[in-house]
Amino acid sequence: MPATVLIVEDEEPIQELLAYNFKAEGFNVRTLDGSEDVVREVSVDTPDIILLDWMLPNMSGIEICRSLRARPDTREVPIIMLTARGEETERVRGLATGADDYVVKPFSVPELMARVKSLLRRSSPDAVADVLKAGELMLDRRTRRVQRSGRDIELSPTEFRLLEHMMQTPGRVFTRAQLLDAVWGRDVYVDERTVDVHVGRLRKSINRAREANPIRTVRGVGYSFDERFGAVNA
Ligand code: CA
Repeated sequence: MPATVLIVEDEEPIQELLAYNFKAEGFNVRTLDGSEDVVREVSVDTPDIILLDWMLPNMSGIEICRSLRARPDTREVPIIMLTARGEETERVRGLATGADDYVVKPFSVPELMARVKSLLRRSSPDAVADVLKAGELMLDRRTRRVQRSGRDIELSPTEFRLLEHMMQTPGRVFTRAQLLDAVWGRDVYVDERTVDVHVGRLRKSINRAREANPIRTVRGVGYSFDERFGAVNA
């Protein structure tokens, strides 16, 4: 399940606990400690869901939540607030500000996980779906299999993740830097041209002669899974 969860939490042990557990569940995890411009970070690279601590050093979780809800590009991102006990009225305010849910510290990780998945099923079903389909192309996350028109396609783990990431949001254009972050990880230094090499291999693997190419090159920007791919081939 490669949905991206953004954890905004200044208490290091909690941040680490959450990061560890969400990684173990297969999420892409990003962390911020609240000293950054959180709203900007979210709008530059929008996660699938945000776990937002209430008390942060610069700006309160509430203010961040309000700002995110006021921007068209971040309005729809599900937000779960992490609050301390005894902030009962604050919690009500939190929901009024536009948070989708909240948990009270100390919280149970399995319960939080369940709430995250339930929100994601509504907001980004493709981020939690086991099988992604577009036209004659099918990608199964459980078996790590890809098929086109029923024939098996062998992909390297990197190519699989690339296809999975792009297929999850057809039509969205990813820059090379965004694909590097999502597929290779944020802490790894890889040249952006590496993305071109792997996209090239991915195309070679999934396209036979005369078959339509679902991976679109967007000149000067990056790549996208063609949202018309299924329709063209239907
Ligand atoms: Ca805090």
